[in-house]
Amino acid sequence: MDFTRLSAIEIRQAIVDKKNTAVEIVTAHLDKIEKLNTKVKAFIQINRDSAIKDAQEIDCKIENGESIGLLAGVPIAIKDNLCIKGRETTCASKMLSGFKPPYTAEVVKKIRNEGGIIVGKTNLDEFAMGSSTENSAVETTRNPWDLERIPGGSSGGSAAAVAAGFVPLALGSDTGGSIRQPASLCGCVGMKPTYGMVSRFGLIAFGSSLDQIGPFARTVEDAALLMDVISGFDNKDSTSANISKPEFINTVNKKNDKLKIGIPEEYFGDGLDSEIESCIKGVIAKLEEDGAEIKKISLPLTKYALPVYYIVAPAEASSNLARYDGVHYGHRTNDAGDIISLYSNSREEGFGPEVKRRIMLGTYVLSAGYYDAYYLQALKVRTKITEDFARVFSDCDVIITPTSPSVAFKIGEKTDDPLSMYLSDIYTLSANLAGIPGVSIPCGMVNNLPVGIQLMSPHFKDAEMLSIAAKIENLVAIRNKIALL
Ligand code: GLN
Repeated sequence: MDFTRLSAIEIRQAIVDKKNTAVEIVTAHLDKIEKLNTKVKAFIQINRDSAIKDAQEIDCKIENGESIGLLAGVPIAIKDNLCIKGRETTCASKMLSGFKPPYTAEVVKKIRNEGGIIVGKTNLDEFAMGSSTENSAVETTRNPWDLERIPGGSSGGSAAAVAAGFVPLALGSDTGGSIRQPASLCGCVGMKPTYGMVSRFGLIAFGSSLDQIGPFARTVEDAALLMDVISGFDNKDSTSANISKPEFINTVNKKNDKLKIGIPEEYFGDGLDSEIESCIKGVIAKLEEDGAEIKKISLPLTKYALPVYYIVAPAEASSNLARYDGVHYGHRTNDAGDIISLYSNSREEGFGPEVKRRIMLGTYVLSAGYYDAYYLQALKVRTKITEDFARVFSDCDVIITPTSPSVAFKIGEKTDDPLSMYLSDIYTLSANLAGIPGVSIPCGMVNNLPVGIQLMSPHFKDAEMLSIAAKIENLVAIRNKIALL
């Protein structure tokens, strides 16, 4: 039996039923990673010994009849911008090469408490800035469906790891689309929860008013399982929402009759690949046949999402990344005669070109004289974008759109054109600006490459959104698909 084809829920069941041991299952995944990661380059750190030791502990618990957690024996990959105490955490940046954090991210702690097995850290665009993993200072991850193509980004390593069958579950972070876009391009499920739903304690900050941690999976049910584990209030994160914890697994299979689905015209215009458009429209037609009410809606401020995001995100990044000064953290230059050259040479050597571009953009829009014209103005438009969503949600349960305007592009195709790279997140940025949840699930193939469909819901309707995603997963009959390498 090929254990790497099992979903997380099936893995746990096999272990509970004593059909297989956690060691057997985890070893099978590690063997596959070791055999094929040189091709895919999803992992930048593999933790074989600790993973097997953790699996042995689960097997001991089962032997002794002790209770085991929701993720017992499930191999999980972690994006390398999440801290794990004592383990290198680099954000795929030279700036943090060798950095071993003194504490562990809350989400990782929760996964371990439920018996999840951390098998390694995955590649990303440097500091999560990018849409292809080509901005990684380590290497470019390959799309398991076509190794000449990018997996999306910035959480491209996590998406590729799940799509390749290296792990059934992974964590990513999403500031403007970094979970949903790579999930779409790699043919897996990727969810950005409501802002505040998942603790970000231990996530290395990029844009603090936008960043959220979320799951990658190959089934909607598995994503719900991981959400049950990682969501909930945490007083170590001041932006964590103090609400009662939703029940994801208990909600995911609920019947969704009388659904009202909003289709925003602005998401189906210029720039959208026509084959993707027909794929998405085919799913919408199936939903209508199934009894859903399809409503044409308008989100007129959509055209401002990209410019607003590329003011707000770089502004916050320039402030968050000020801490990397060669004194407190990470890389320190050998070439410094005074304190100013220590700062500037450390930063010059440590950061890659995209990170520098964002820092410059952000510093500019926050500087005296430009703050009102750019940053303040962007905040006002951001509020309007949020109001746009609130208005349409008064009359529909969920919004459906494409996740990305094209399928996975070739490595190198967009590296010289940052604007065209930025456009790959055109449909995902608004959810971060408004703080609402979004999920991408696979809905078809175009030219043998996966296509994702995006669902967005009102704040804190994350569990309901996943149950609608499960319904669509059933309708399109794409579930637990693995790219054959
Ligand atoms: N691609 C977007 C950017 O480059 C979003 C990144 C993200 O969500 N982390 O900023």
